[in-house]
Amino acid sequence: MRELEQELARLETVARRLEPETGSRRHHNQQVLDYADDFLETLPGLKTFRSMPCGALLAAMPVTEQPYSMEQVLQALARDVDTPGINPASGGHLGYIPGGGQYYAALGDYLADVFNRYAGVAYASPGAVQLEKSLLRWMADMVGYPAVAAGDLTSGGSMANLMGVVAAREAAELKGSQLERSPIYLTAQTHHCVDKALRIAGLGECPRRMISMDAGFRMDTGALAASIQNDRNAGLKPWLIVGSAGTTDTGSVDPLAEIADIAAFHGIWFHLDAAYGGFFMLSDHAKNVLKGIEQSDSVVIDPHKGLFLPYGSGAILVRDGAALHKAHYYDANYMQDARADEQDLSPADLSPELSRPFRGLRMWLPLMLCGLAPFRAALDEKLLLARYFHKTLSALPGWEVGPEPELSVVTYRHLPHSGDPNEFNRKLVQAIHDDGRVFVSSTVINGRFMLRLAVLHFRTHREQVDLLLELLAQQAARLSGS
Ligand SMILES: *Cc1c(COP(=O)(O)O)cnc(C)c1O
Repeated sequence: MRELEQELARLETVARRLEPETGSRRHHNQQVLDYADDFLETLPGLKTFRSMPCGALLAAMPVTEQPYSMEQVLQALARDVDTPGINPASGGHLGYIPGGGQYYAALGDYLADVFNRYAGVAYASPGAVQLEKSLLRWMADMVGYPAVAAGDLTSGGSMANLMGVVAAREAAELKGSQLERSPIYLTAQTHHCVDKALRIAGLGECPRRMISMDAGFRMDTGALAASIQNDRNAGLKPWLIVGSAGTTDTGSVDPLAEIADIAAFHGIWFHLDAAYGGFFMLSDHAKNVLKGIEQSDSVVIDPHKGLFLPYGSGAILVRDGAALHKAHYYDANYMQDARADEQDLSPADLSPELSRPFRGLRMWLPLMLCGLAPFRAALDEKLLLARYFHKTLSALPGWEVGPEPELSVVTYRHLPHSGDPNEFNRKLVQAIHDDGRVFVSSTVINGRFMLRLAVLHFRTHREQVDLLLELLAQQAARLSGS
């Protein structure tokens, strides 16, 4: 007994180091705040892309029994993590689909982590679950879903697409033996994570019908209707249409209302990937383009895109909440105290997760502390910046510019006087990357190497778009040898 007591006392002394005492906690708080403040203060002058050797400091810091100092840790982060590669906090990020990083979201994460409220079941944290539900309801109202809709805040769009696909599968009551006779309708511009989701969900054997698109890369609904009719005539069982509201490549929005009508006519689930475009519902400039979103059966929206939150925030909404529940319900003896009634479902009843972070707080805090107006203004601004870029570049000689943007993506390329245009534009992207002040990405459309402008960062304003226009003119002239 004596030895046991001594051992407990020894262990307690060491274990208590997990709880920093007041003085050292305040000191560390200040060091971290200073590090973050310094970053934010110098951000306007920092590069958006830096290719550089890195990793040496991290490699020299293996996990050991003994701690490192905060100075060492922050130095390693500054050198090896927060400098090389794409700077996603920069307004110069105009590639892929830019993320956000609104500051109050970080404070939300901080509070969520310190209090560590368990947001999986309402029994454990009724307030956290209520808060998340109110955000989901707000989004459901935004897209026009009825009161019976349900949803979940996820880690991102990929997970949300997976949950939507699984809800659709359960609603269709698909059996394994039917898969080869149960086609799915999508386009070549559907995000790759949908294909991934279908395979993860065990639906890889379903035939994929790649529906042709119009000149603006929107699903051709005539071809969709014909393909479905064709399959039905052949005795197959069409069950899922995947639309996109904002494709990643070109920002195109499929004709949502027409697709919804076709889906309703044939009794097919209409899943909509609006990971990129969904929050443009807050902008009067895009509401028309997104008309029909309310008729989808499930929709994916990424707050870490259009609501400018840091990475780690997606959302799935399902028009008939019962389908989401059917796909994700559970039962376990050790959960008997936490069992939900049907009217009051918790995140754990509606998603693959049990223990999960309190994701709602990082979304709620920015909305509470900023109000909606600046979000709407920023989204309006992004749409108009893309139009401004499209107009300006179209007026310059030597540039081929893609369709007028429906949302905030523009594709374009330079047409050199001689030589292979693909090779020329590849070099042009490289030149922009080498400069590093802004970051752009590229894609291939109909065999053509195209550059993309994607405006979605809340820190992107006219200044960054003008800088890109200036750089493009400069570098194209240099590469042409003039
Ligand atoms: C970003 C994106 C996804 C993937 O979402 P993640 O949040 O990156 O997992 C899916 N679809 C579209 C249209 C996207 O833009």
